[in-house]
Amino acid sequence: MRSATDPEVPELGPDPVIGGYACHTRCLSRMAVYAESVSVNEARAMVQELFKSATEVADEDIRIKTLYPWDLDMERRTEKILMAAYWTKNYRRSKSEDRNRTGLFLCASCQSVFPQVITEKQVLCEGCRASRS
Ligand SMILES: [Zn+2]
Repeated sequence: MRSATDPEVPELGPDPVIGGYACHTRCLSRMAVYAESVSVNEARAMVQELFKSATEVADEDIRIKTLYPWDLDMERRTEKILMAAYWTKNYRRSKSEDRNRTGLFLCASCQSVFPQVITEKQVLCEGCRASRS
């Protein structure tokens, strides 16, 4: 059975697929990387790319999970299907309450992911803001 906290698992091509959960403020609370195989290093690099240099993503921010058929309602198969790596903004033990920390947000126009200080209220990425001014 698929757990209620797992995002929909997309069809996989050869490349890893990254997805995320956005709350009503468009802040992303969780990112998931799906691939046939994914390491902490690879997942951290992918999330780091989204943050650009705004914040440093640490290995402790990433959790790796192997998905089996029973995770995906595919009872006839028994072998490992794919791996998932999750980044969640609250994993880190040194969880920060700093109001100036940076989070990931989903652009309301182009749906790209962009970093910004969590107390800021922009809903558009830099590119979309620039093209509207
Ligand atoms: Zn945009």
